[in-house]
Amino acid sequence: MLKVKNLSVHYGMIQAIKDISFEVNEGEIVTLIGANGAGKSTILRTISGLVKPSSGEIEYLGKPIHTVATRKIVEQGIAQVPEGRHVFKGLTVQENLDLGSFTRKDKQNLAGDLEAVFERFPILRERKNQDAATLSGGEQQMLAMGRALMTKPKLLLLDEPSMGLAPIFIKEIFHIIQDIQKQGTTILLIEQNANVALKIANRGYVLETGNIVLTGTGEELLASDEVQKAYLGG
Ligand code: ATP
Repeated sequence: MLKVKNLSVHYGMIQAIKDISFEVNEGEIVTLIGANGAGKSTILRTISGLVKPSSGEIEYLGKPIHTVATRKIVEQGIAQVPEGRHVFKGLTVQENLDLGSFTRKDKQNLAGDLEAVFERFPILRERKNQDAATLSGGEQQMLAMGRALMTKPKLLLLDEPSMGLAPIFIKEIFHIIQDIQKQGTTILLIEQNANVALKIANRGYVLETGNIVLTGTGEELLASDEVQKAYLGG
């Protein structure tokens, strides 16, 4: 579904991503794990078209997208839930969700899709008329995910959904991520929390200072000595 080939990204003189290649197949949860500053967010921002690569290609459903504008990429079915959620404060929960469907060409069944989001996240229905600023961190993560789902994505990009959340919320969010996969959405998940990410991922890649240093199934990576030592305190 998504093929990243020999991708390099620079910020001025700094090379954040160094000639990396990986792929995500339809129906999978693939995770990119790595420490702070390894380049995880840069990869997501490049897939979304917010950052342009200095070399390499990104192919989505058989077509190059690294030269395409972000809006068109979203229209083709890629949605990103950014690190730190970025919900629109000052707008209600429902208004935030409505913004998710803004770029959609097919406006059919918006009410049904909103209902599906409320069924997945009942707390958002309870709070639909509340200012998004009043939500807890976990609820804001749910709202950001709900907003992305309103674009009806084929591929969902999640940037550190566990960040800053209490363990009980992390468990709930990761359960929901698996559920979204079961209902047919492919997921690329970026995480510093290697333990939770590898438990639900079909496959993973370990990123270190802009390079992929290890790859395997979620189970293989969880069991690997390198991952245990570097990321799981083992
Ligand atoms: P984090 O978990 O902190 O977001 P990350 O793995 O997502 O880490 P990136 O944010 O992609 O890492 O950063 C990769 C490298 O690029 C880092 O060295 C970072 O300092 C640098 N970088 C990121 N954004 C910029 C920017 N806008 N300008 C200059 N350098 C940047």
